[in-house]
Order: sequence, then structure tokens, then C-alpha cells
Amino acid sequence: MKILIVDDDVASAKILEGILSSYGRCELATSGSEAIDAFGIAFESNDKFDLVFLDIMMPGLDGHGVLREIRTIEDDAETDRKRRVRVVMVTAVDDPQDVMNAFRNQCDAYLVKPIEKSQVIGQLTKLGLLEQDDV
Ligand SMILES: [Mg+2]
Repeated sequence: MKILIVDDDVASAKILEGILSSYGRCELATSGSEAIDAFGIAFESNDKFDLVFLDIMMPGLDGHGVLREIRTIEDDAETDRKRRVRVVMVTAVDDPQDVMNAFRNQCDAYLVKPIEKSQVIGQLTKLGLLEQDDV
């Protein structure tokens, strides 16, 4: 599994990388534009990302903007809905409006910081990305 971790806070990104590196190859991006570049390059190659952890609050292009851009890239390529990258939105605030916006923009799951390993594993399991043996 190939995973893109997007967070302007490098410490948060590293925490996720520490959890996720047992389950897949991780790449880190520290801004929205860096995330779009990494996603786009992988999308054009035959080495697409399977999963994105996407921080919502980032300066410049935020997580909602990145999510919209990812879905636009996929729609433009007429990607089958079932084959779209799974996106887990991550934020520091448990803000219902943020949750609504994220789901309207078609993410797959939602995590609130501070990130706990059990939360992350729970989401991966729900998304069907883990074998029983991995848990
Ligand atoms: Mg942030």
C-alpha cells in the first residue's frame, strides 16, 4: 500500500508516518501544493497512492482544497468510483462544520488530533485496508 501523509506540522506528519510505515510505503508532503504535486506525479505514473491522510488546516491550499483537487484529477481521468484513492481528513478541532465540508467533498473518513494509533488502525480496518493479521 502506498500512503501520502499531508500536514504542515512536520511533527504530526512524523507521528502518522511512525504508525503507518508498518502498513505501507509513506511519502510526506508539508503543504497543499506539495501534496497535489506528489499525488499528480504518482497518478500519472503506474504507482498511484492508495491512501491519503490529509490535514485540513494548512496555510495556502488547505485540506479541503487538496481533496477537491484530488477528486478533480480522478474525475478528469474518468476514474471508477471504487478505484479512487481513500482519503482520511485530519484536523486539530472537532468542528462539525469541518466534518460536513470534508464529507461533502468526498473524503472517506475523519480523524481528530491528537492522533492515536488505535484510531488510525480502526479507520484502516473500517476502510478495508488491513488484513485481520495486520491488526
Ligand atoms: Mg495544520
